[in-house]
Amino acid sequence: MRDMNTTSEERNRISEKGTVLVIDDEQAMRDSCRQVLTKDGYRTETAENGNSGLQKIRELKPDLVLVDLKMPGMSGMELLENIGDIDPSIVSIVITGYATIESAVEAMKRHAYDFLTKPFTPDQLRIVIKRGLERRRLAIESARLQREKEMMKENFVTLVSHQLRSPLASIKQYFGVIREGFAGEVNSKQKEMIERASNYIDDLLQLINDWLDISRIEAGSVIKKFKPIALAPILYQTSELLQPLADAMKVTLKLDLSNNPSLVEGDGESLKEAFKNLISNGINYNREGGTVTVSTKDEVDGLVVEICDTGIGIVKDDLHFIFDDFFRVKRKETRGIRGSGLGLPIAKKIIEAHDGCIKVVSEIGKGSTFSIFLPKAKVKVKK
Ligand code: ADP
Repeated sequence: MRDMNTTSEERNRISEKGTVLVIDDEQAMRDSCRQVLTKDGYRTETAENGNSGLQKIRELKPDLVLVDLKMPGMSGMELLENIGDIDPSIVSIVITGYATIESAVEAMKRHAYDFLTKPFTPDQLRIVIKRGLERRRLAIESARLQREKEMMKENFVTLVSHQLRSPLASIKQYFGVIREGFAGEVNSKQKEMIERASNYIDDLLQLINDWLDISRIEAGSVIKKFKPIALAPILYQTSELLQPLADAMKVTLKLDLSNNPSLVEGDGESLKEAFKNLISNGINYNREGGTVTVSTKDEVDGLVVEICDTGIGIVKDDLHFIFDDFFRVKRKETRGIRGSGLGLPIAKKIIEAHDGCIKVVSEIGKGSTFSIFLPKAKVKVKK
């Protein structure tokens, strides 16, 4: 049925609609499929067994393959697996003379998209082919959009880190020079204004750094530095770093690490960052005279770090959102507390990158407890 006289315009139209390869040992089946599909404008090729089918797949790169399940030599199931290895985006549709549930399920497990039971009508064939090609079009489109999104994000990260962060840091430096009087005398009112402007720049720089952190974690760069580490020194160092904040907020920071916790598999710097965000929140969203207690609990398969504060607590409805990017609770108690809304999402992403999880319980006016579970490092047994 191949038309030797097709014009180049017709050939273009045909290749635009898609290429279908029919692999079946029955000549009558191959011919009838080709007749129907060519008439409908598809480029249609055929193969009489698995081996020549695979060769044609490599040469033609078809959009869709019709595979007979029962063929001498390579079986349809084996063929399906090979097609997936060559190009998993090719849509495979199974043709079978004895459609049992089991064979259909087996074929689906090998990524067949649909199946046709022999004998079938031209219309049944058309519907299945159309649906299969639509799926392929959507899969290709979605992969393209995903790639585009990643590229945009990558470009944005470069833009943010180079074009925004550097000039902001320079502005901050100039403000410092002016405030200190190196560029001429500054009165107290001007000094105060410059200080306020510097604080806004600090907030912006913090937001940019947090946002870059999120992008770095999402790109998976923390995963590469994993090794067995002890949590106690990490928690000590983080608390030490936050002691000045606790003093300024008149909050007592307590550590209870007496039970000598086991090692976890992780990246120390990232974990420090996660705990810094959680402990600083415990301090910032506390009250004068309040406490933040950091403790560890050894469990069978992991370690639990608890960060418990006696602060303002979190409304139940807000608990669903506090780990979302840029979410900040708006209450009269949180007014005046500066932040980017990225502290908790960063902490959560870091902990999940360690195969851990984070949970929170909170009571308004009483305080919140964030519990972080981290799996223990696997100890290698020497033989
Ligand atoms: P940020 O603190 O920068 O606003 P986070 O992502 O760290 O952002 O936290 C999101 C919101 O969750 C905060 O704005 C705050 O309202 C609430 N929150 C976080 N930790 C606590 C806590 N320990 N106690 C009360 N509220 C908290």
